[in-house]
Amino acid sequence: MATLVDETLSVARELAATEQTIRQAVDWLEENKGCGWSCLKCNVTLGRNFAALATRQRQLIVDAVCHCAVEDFETHPALLWLVTLLCDSEFERLVQHLARRAPFERSVAIRLIRLSFGNQGAWRFGLTHDRQRIIRAPYHLHPVLAPLLLDATIRAGTRTEDAMELLEYFEPIAHTHAALEEALPQWRSERARHESASRVEWTRRAELDREATEKRRAVEAEQEAQFQAIESSGPVAVLNAILNCETAALLSFPERWAKMPEYILDTLPRNLLIETASRLLGEHASRPWRGLGMRITHLVKSRAKSKERQVWLAKLECSPLEERLRIACASNWALTFFPTQWASELVRTVSQMPAPLRNPLLSKLMRIRRRGLWREARQALLRTHESQ
Ligand SMILES: [Zn+2]
Repeated sequence: MATLVDETLSVARELAATEQTIRQAVDWLEENKGCGWSCLKCNVTLGRNFAALATRQRQLIVDAVCHCAVEDFETHPALLWLVTLLCDSEFERLVQHLARRAPFERSVAIRLIRLSFGNQGAWRFGLTHDRQRIIRAPYHLHPVLAPLLLDATIRAGTRTEDAMELLEYFEPIAHTHAALEEALPQWRSERARHESASRVEWTRRAELDREATEKRRAVEAEQEAQFQAIESSGPVAVLNAILNCETAALLSFPERWAKMPEYILDTLPRNLLIETASRLLGEHASRPWRGLGMRITHLVKSRAKSKERQVWLAKLECSPLEERLRIACASNWALTFFPTQWASELVRTVSQMPAPLRNPLLSKLMRIRRRGLWREARQALLRTHESQ
């Protein structure tokens, strides 16, 4: 009884150790595999890193890989990469380990064959000494495993359907097994049929794609003709189209409309501008259209401001220059905001400017960088200042 318990415990310990070492092996591969694609550069680096491992760590990984069952390879595809890195003697250990499980159940054998055949080229039984360097290599079975796997999958009386499935993997050796050879003509004709069917399907899809593209182009051309017709009626028509369309239609309008320049927008009626902007900003319009909405709003506001300025300046025009300049100095505006007419008046009458006005005027004028009448006025003011 005691020995049975001991044995169970030791088996459990061994299993646990294997699980832990599998995790370590997988982690090492994940850290070192590079981009993870079938990439020559990363594969070479991976091979080098594996070759450079300390003996103990390499032993740990090799032990883990060589103790894996089919399920482990299925659960952790990373282990399949490690198989390709094993040296020939290490690989033989894995093969012996797998061979000890024979006789295989048919389903297990099929899974092993599939792993060997279909796992991104990472695992190939019995490849030559190039096996550990070349990750993509032609398929064939290790001489020890081949008969065991074939025994488990191909038997006397193997049904044609089963043989057909196996031929996916065993076509090159079909002639060595009667059941496979028998099924071969049917398998080949089915494969040919399948290939021609997929060719037909491919052609059909290509044709559908072509038709769809043509249809889409025709619709686009028709739309473009409509857009150009609207454009030829002028910018008011364009804004009206934007204002009165449905939200979905807005997306199909050409983006060049959203880029309508300010000097054109400036010529359009105020109400149309305001309504268009409030529509564009009120909805979940996409970026260029929101941009147009903001530009219009800005334009309408700055137009209103410049009108206000004109009215204000027109009122000021009746006052004498001294009074006007005093107001200009007290305002927040730069002097360039005021009519240049005032600057030329100042140049003419600079000697009559009262002293208290000269300093605030100069301090405003000092900030002017651009050439022009206001800078001339500054020079004149400075000259009179020096001469007095
Ligand atoms: Zn890479």
